[in-house]
Amino acid sequence: MNIILLGPPGAGKGTQAQRLVVQRAMVQLSTGDMLRAAVKAGTPVGLKAKAVMDAGELVSDEIVSGIIGEALDQLPPETGVIFDGYPRTAAQAESLDALLAARGRHLDHVVELEVDEDALVDRITGRFTCASCGEGYHDRYKRPSVEGVCDRCGGTEFKRRPDDNEETVRTRMAEYRAKTAPILPIYEARGIVSRVDGMADIDGVSEAIESVLEHQV
Ligand code: ADP
Ligand code: AMP
Repeated sequence: MNIILLGPPGAGKGTQAQRLVVQRAMVQLSTGDMLRAAVKAGTPVGLKAKAVMDAGELVSDEIVSGIIGEALDQLPPETGVIFDGYPRTAAQAESLDALLAARGRHLDHVVELEVDEDALVDRITGRFTCASCGEGYHDRYKRPSVEGVCDRCGGTEFKRRPDDNEETVRTRMAEYRAKTAPILPIYEARGIVSRVDGMADIDGVSEAIESVLEHQV
């Protein structure tokens, strides 16, 4: 099964993708995570992407579709994929179709997480992750069970993203509205879009996604 989690920054895509990885043995392909790794490693892609990401704008379609193609090539064909943060433009949606078709894959579901914009700044400015394993947390909505210790790996170092500040979040939301939301009709025309209430608590959202995935389109 190949699915897209679609929604504005802070909607809960990464949180839900991490759960699907555990529950369904799927692989999460997050272009944001891959770009941050490239920035950290100082690769040519990372060097090009850093300023754009810091500003909350979109990295070029060629770069992100290139890294998705490379990531798909690393996976056994039967592995299910969750696309998280990709595609974000009509050109990327078109590239994804071609990348999947060339590998004998197809899209089964596009799950749109619907959220109130007012909640997003709050979610994003409270977000932090484990520095060792990447497990996501929130200052109020998802704290580690033992203060200062990662639930998943026991790590004790956490980090925050430089672009998770209010000003950049506004730009990222504007980019979402202008370039990403308009790709939904492409998938609606194929009858594969399901809407999930992203304002429910984390378990509630997971249950709603599960019921979508159990229902074959
Ligand atoms: P995205 O990947 O869509 O940008 P994340 O999954 O990183 O969003 O979620 C953003 C922040 O909101 C994280 O700190 C996460 O712990 C928190 N969060 C995610 N889903 C929910 C939810 N349903 N209710 C409350 N907080 C949530
Ligand atoms: P994310 O982790 O999904 O919030 O993405 C963080 C940043 O990485 C975005 O604000 C963009 O600058 C960049 N980015 C991630 N995915 C894409 C994509 N599919 N297309 C363009 N830019 C992206």
